[in-house]
Amino acid sequence: MTNRKIIDTVLAAVRKYDEAAHWVPEWATRNPSIPIVGEFYGLIVANFNHCPEGWDRKLANIGFEPVFYDEIITCSECALGLQTRPDWYGWLPDYWLDEEHGDVICRECLFKVHGMIDAYFEYAKDRPNRALLPTLISEELLAKNGWRKMNADRFENGFHPGQNDRPTDILAEYSARYTDYEFVFRVRSVGQFDTLFDLYGRKRGVS
Ligand SMILES: [Zn+2]
Repeated sequence: MTNRKIIDTVLAAVRKYDEAAHWVPEWATRNPSIPIVGEFYGLIVANFNHCPEGWDRKLANIGFEPVFYDEIITCSECALGLQTRPDWYGWLPDYWLDEEHGDVICRECLFKVHGMIDAYFEYAKDRPNRALLPTLISEELLAKNGWRKMNADRFENGFHPGQNDRPTDILAEYSARYTDYEFVFRVRSVGQFDTLFDLYGRKRGVS
């Protein structure tokens, strides 16, 4: 059977139980918790609760990744399927979820679509409740865009004693000290009980 035929056959079988089931050819990150041996045909997105028990596992065995509807969203620009399900404690999305405009921007589109990176900086600028993601923005890219790291020691917020850095306080403090600067936070990493982050600043009007 050709790949297309395999996909159509499997999809038709799943659609007997969930008419809205669909196939997604790619996923930015394949879920390592479901190892797929051999050929990989993509994702089958469906409500597997409607299928006979064990169907999700069966699909995985024949080279499909079974995915529930709420585990995937698609890029507003290119319709690439993107994982929304954390599969380990340090997981971070590799897309920009712009809740202000209701857009989802994948990594590739962030760099490919003209003006998108600047829009992302703008989105995070001087906002203590927003932070750039390390899965999207490297320290090098920040430096290239004129942002420099303001803090000597990383900020920490979390469960352990002393992990009490608060973005609101930090931004207020730095804004008062550097009145002609604009700032963005960037997550360094997340753990089970904490988030590590940094503050970057640049003179207003520079880009
Ligand atoms: Zn995209």
